Amino acid sequence: MPFRNLGLDPKILQAVQEAGYTEPTPIQTAAIPPILAGSDLIGIAQTGTGKTAAFTLPILTKLAAVTGAGGQRGTRALVLAPTRELVLQIEENVRSYGKHLPLRVATVFGGVGEHPQINALRAGTQLIIACPGRLLDLMGRRCADFSGLQYLVLDEADRMLDMGFLPSIRQIVRSLPTKRQTLLFSATLSKEIEVLTHEVQ
Ligand code: AMP
Repeated sequence: MPFRNLGLDPKILQAVQEAGYTEPTPIQTAAIPPILAGSDLIGIAQTGTGKTAAFTLPILTKLAAVTGAGGQRGTRALVLAPTRELVLQIEENVRSYGKHLPLRVATVFGGVGEHPQINALRAGTQLIIACPGRLLDLMGRRCADFSGLQYLVLDEADRMLDMGFLPSIRQIVRSLPTKRQTLLFSATLSKEIEVLTHEVQ
């Protein structure tokens, strides 16, 4: 199936073309239509399969539907990822696929000063890509507004569990609106991942 039949926003399709992608990868073909339709989803996919675009392309399409019509306050999408490197990689993807959209994106991770991140959150951002530990710190200081959150992505969920982020993830998820779409990506499907999926759905 070509990209243009998946139901993505035309401006995002243009960016995908400019990135040189000719056809969707299997995880993209499988995941994009149900995500656009509003389903929760568990994706079992390794790095290198195109999994980042599998969730960023449909989420950006959904954000574009409102951004284009004048915008909406508060953060609408949150992506949690285990490491700073992955957060930055996801951000790079989002900025590339969203380059023709008026999109506000913020990243949150530890090991660097908090103030630029706090300022970015307070300025208002539609999409936050974050490591759980630092995000929880900033949420405790009321820097993020998740009252209008609609989309939650847990990327590399197995790695986040291995790194001991389960208590932080639980705490973050507890403070999000329950009526939302949740997407979970993991390289492996273990008992722990199954338990997590029940907790976050
Ligand atoms: P990921 O699995 O998300 O880490 O993606 C691995 C690499 O594949 C990244 O460099 C992407 O830019 C690239 N990629 C993602 N989707 C496609 C596609 N449909 N065609 C060609 N390359 C892609």
